[in-house]
Amino acid sequence: MTPDPIQRFTSSCRHCGHKFKHISFAVPIVGQEPGKPDSRVSELVKVFAAHLHRKHSEEYAGAGIAAQQLSNGTTGFWMEQKLMFGLAVLVRFEHEDPILRMIVDATRLVLHRMTRRATLDDATLLDRVARLELSNGDQAKVVELCKSLRDFLMETPQVPQNQIVETPQ
Ligand SMILES: [Zn+2]
Repeated sequence: MTPDPIQRFTSSCRHCGHKFKHISFAVPIVGQEPGKPDSRVSELVKVFAAHLHRKHSEEYAGAGIAAQQLSNGTTGFWMEQKLMFGLAVLVRFEHEDPILRMIVDATRLVLHRMTRRATLDDATLLDRVARLELSNGDQAKVVELCKSLRDFLMETPQVPQNQIVETPQ
């Protein structure tokens, strides 16, 4: 028997452990236009959503409610609803595929940036630290610490270059 040259990964339901096999997201889709969203993500969301609908109706309803809440009953938010629903479904599964995990996290980050209420710009931060009347050396250290804490909590650092996956041509 010849080994399967296409790498496959498993996603497991966090509620019942049911496993789904899928082709690695590193494998390009034949005919996929560069820069277009990977249609396999929405295909997987459909499969996972069907599983939740059949086996875990409460969690399935939760995903739908989360998506509905985002639109607040108004129309024209289909993109956000789709993102929210997809994410609410995807986080209910454990994904082996590192690229799929990255896609899920990038989606979460988009929603986080769209919805977070707190911001702290450099000028406000510097002003607040200046009011502490610290020595110049201590002030610089506190500013650096506050900036790194802010960036960590707001997830502002960019994705390291080596984690960016190029779309195959
Ligand atoms: Zn399940």
